[in-house]
Amino acid sequence: MVEHIFSENDGNLDVLLNLTITIIGYGNQGRAQALNMRDSGLKVIIGNRKDQYRKRAKKDGFEVFSIEEATKLCDILFLLIPDEVMKEIYENHIKDNLKDKGAIVFASGYNIAFNIIKPPKKHDVLLIAPRMIGVGVRERFLTNEGFFSFIHVENDASSKAQEILLALCKAIGTLKKGAFDISFKQEAVLDLFNEQAFGPVFGRVLLTSIFTLVDAGYPPEAVLIEMFMSEEMSYIYEKMAQVGLVKQVDFHSQTSQYGAMSRGIKFRNLPIKKEMKKILENIESGNFAKEWEKKSSKIIFRFLKFFATKTRINKLEQKVRRNLKLKSIDYYEFEEPTIDDSDITKKIMRELKEFEDYIMEF
Ligand code: NDP
Repeated sequence: MVEHIFSENDGNLDVLLNLTITIIGYGNQGRAQALNMRDSGLKVIIGNRKDQYRKRAKKDGFEVFSIEEATKLCDILFLLIPDEVMKEIYENHIKDNLKDKGAIVFASGYNIAFNIIKPPKKHDVLLIAPRMIGVGVRERFLTNEGFFSFIHVENDASSKAQEILLALCKAIGTLKKGAFDISFKQEAVLDLFNEQAFGPVFGRVLLTSIFTLVDAGYPPEAVLIEMFMSEEMSYIYEKMAQVGLVKQVDFHSQTSQYGAMSRGIKFRNLPIKKEMKKILENIESGNFAKEWEKKSSKIIFRFLKFFATKTRINKLEQKVRRNLKLKSIDYYEFEEPTIDDSDITKKIMRELKEFEDYIMEF
């Protein structure tokens, strides 16, 4: 069965006429989606705390309200703030202020998938999760290219949630490329798996390659240019999307193709798939979401970010960037967390030591 991909003709903006759309949060996604919808002719207002993002929204010509006020004023509310603060903002500022039959739109499945936020049945609950960073959402709207999104109706209180969803998709610009219906849970799992399985394995392969070469005496400047600073890898990724994962090999020399294809077999027995399956199960079961809710995970996270500032690659990269006259703004810095005497910190000390050893390997 071929799944249906929604495209431009599936969305009709008429269903949104006279409706007010509130965007909560004017960050990466918030700004891009607000500008796109306004350019599509919709009435868009912003809800944000009194902060730097609020000033930016005003400068862009939007009416900006407190989160409570903006919620009361709207028919459709986009919750475009970081996933980890959403529950608190939803519970304390949105839940009691959104009108009956009003829609709530998420750009990530996380909080619904893992039952962290449980909106009542009186609201439409919609997903429009762009597979694109905010800057790209805006740029690709302006160039008419569009971008892929995962979309879904979780609850249909208005009896026209699907029409509303597709109209919003059209206004944001995603239907120009295509929107694909998957559940909140599927979206969240795919996203987390990419971050927790593919990302770290890729990172480790990259760092192992870098230090295999540096330790063998190759100049660090040349190694980093070869491995990622040339931006050649991002072109290869682009070509994979444009012409096909396998077919893009034709852009490389015969020597490169033979070398890569014939040597792949040497890495065949790495236990990557086994570990990836465990990570997938841990995400699907909701155990990762539970772990991330814990106070101790937030403490571990601060330490992990700090350890990363002390890694060999961070120092090496600083030196290489200086030598290549690249901007010093790219240095990675994070303040050292204070170690308190609390029970939680004591409990995680051994775990922290393990993480420190692991991260400091590079
Ligand atoms: P950002 O980190 O860019 O959000 C920043 C906005 O959130 C600002 O307006 C900020 O306002 C507000 N904010 C931050 N903390 C709080 C808080 N405690 N209380 C109230 N407001 C707060 O978010 P993103 O755009 O990256 O993500 C938004 C959603 O989009 C998420 O669900 C994410 O998963 C999803 N998404 C993100 C993508 C991306 O590329 N970034 C891609 C696809 C989906 P201020 O600090 O001024 O109060």
